[in-house]
Amino acid sequence: MDLNRKITVLPEEVASKIAAGEVVERPSSIVKELLENALDAGATDITIELRGGGKELIRIADNGAGIAPGEVPLAFERHATSKILTVDDLYDVRSFGFRGEALPSIAAVCRVEMTTRRRGDVSGTRIVVESGRILENEAAGCPEGTSISVSRIFDSLPARRKFLRQDATEQGHCLDIIVRVLLPHGAVRAKVLTGSKTLLEIPRTENLYERIVLLLGSDLRNHLVDLAQESPGVRLSGFVSRPDFTRSSTRNMFFYINGRYVRDVLLSQAVMSAYRNLLEPRKYPACALFIEVPPETIDVNVHPAKLEVRFRRPQDVRELIQRSLSVALAGVRPASQAAHTVADAGRSYAAGRTGVYEALRRYSLSAGIAAASP
Ligand code: ADP
Ligand code: MG
Repeated sequence: MDLNRKITVLPEEVASKIAAGEVVERPSSIVKELLENALDAGATDITIELRGGGKELIRIADNGAGIAPGEVPLAFERHATSKILTVDDLYDVRSFGFRGEALPSIAAVCRVEMTTRRRGDVSGTRIVVESGRILENEAAGCPEGTSISVSRIFDSLPARRKFLRQDATEQGHCLDIIVRVLLPHGAVRAKVLTGSKTLLEIPRTENLYERIVLLLGSDLRNHLVDLAQESPGVRLSGFVSRPDFTRSSTRNMFFYINGRYVRDVLLSQAVMSAYRNLLEPRKYPACALFIEVPPETIDVNVHPAKLEVRFRRPQDVRELIQRSLSVALAGVRPASQAAHTVADAGRSYAAGRTGVYEALRRYSLSAGIAAASP
C-alpha cells in the first residue's frame, strides 16, 4: 500500500458495490430480500423461479400491493423506503424491511427487471435497472402485484461470483431461506420452480403445527411439544421436538423474534442447554420458537442482512427459553407418568430441571435415545 496516497471519496459506483456486497452475499440473500418485500406488501400468493440454483435467474412474483408508477424509480434509490420515516421508527419496526437498501443493492450488482401494478390501477410500470442505472422505465400492462427478475448476478463482481458454489448447493441455500421466511406465514401460498419442475409447493395452512410438519418433514408429526410461556417483557411460543426425535445438524432449529427469522447463537444455546443430557453428542432437536418482545427492547439494525438482533435484556430471553423447554420436555412420554405437562410449565426452573433428569432416565431405560434417531 502506498502510504502517501491521498484520501478520496469513492465514486458512487464503487461505494454502492461495496454496500451491496454486505447485503447480497449469494443468490439466497437476494431471495430473502425479495421474499420479505413481498410479505411486507401483503402478498398471499408468491411464485419463485430459480435457474442455475439462483445464480442465473431469480424471479419472484407476488400479489401484493404493488408500487405507484411515480415511485418505482425511487424504490431503487438508496435509503428510499415506504416503511420508516424517523430514527424512532427504527425501534418500532414491524415490517421486514426498513433500510431501503435491498433493491438498490441488488440492482448495483445484477440486472433487475420489475413490473408492478397497484390493485385497482389501470396500468402498471416496467423498469429495468442494471449496475445502478435505470435503462427503461415505462407504463406497461401487467398483473396486479409485483414481479421482479434478477439476472446477471454478480457479473460486475467477478470475485464474488467465483465464491458461489455448485447449482445444487446454491439452490439448497435458496430453498432453506424460503422455508425459514415462510414458515410463520400460514396465510401465504408459495411455489418454487426451476424450469418446468416444481421444487416446493407450500399451500396455505390452518395452523403452525401443520406448517412445521409440512415444511420440516412429516416424520416430525407426533414428535412435537408445544410451548406457550410468558415472563415480564418476553413471550415465547412454538414447538420443540421430543427428545426421541433428533437430527444431525442444527438446521432444523428455527427462531423468530417479533416475526422476523433470525440466526442467534444465544437462542440456540439456550435451547441446547435445555436438551443437555437428553440428546447424544452431536444430535440436535428441531424447533420453531417465536419470541415476542416489545419492539423498543430490541435493536434489529445490527446485522447487514438483519439476521441477528440485539436484546436489551438477553438474560430474560435465555432464562425463559431454558425454563419453558426444560419443563415441557420433562413432561413428555410416557404421557401417563409425565412429571409435568406443558400446562404446569409455570413451575420454577429447578423443578423443571429435576424433571429433565427423570425424563432422561426414562429414555435411556426405554427405547434409548440413539435408537430413536433417524
Ligand atoms: P425496504 O424494504 O427496506 O423498504 P427495499 O429496497 O427492499 O427497501 O424496497 C424499497 C421499497 O420498494 C419498499 O419500501 C417498498 O415500498 C417497495 N417495494 C419493494 N418490493 C416491493 C414489492 N414486492 N411490492 C410492493 N412494494 C415493494
Ligand atoms: Mg426490503
